[in-house]
Amino acid sequence: MSLQDKSLQCSDCGTTFTFSAGEQEFFKSKGFTNEPKRCPSCRRANKAKRSDSGDYSYNSKW
Ligand SMILES: [Zn+2]
Repeated sequence: MSLQDKSLQCSDCGTTFTFSAGEQEFFKSKGFTNEPKRCPSCRRANKAKRSDSGDYSYNSKW
């Protein structure tokens, strides 16, 4: 049985994005059971926001 690309809706901006079979496999391999709630660009924006509210060091990982 192979995985198939899925269309999901971003809970942040409402955009429809593709949760590809490859990503689903990656998620599984990481032990994640939830599907992503946000599109890639919102995820990136969210990460940026998070590191911004912390310190400004580029070395901090999260
Ligand atoms: Zn989004």
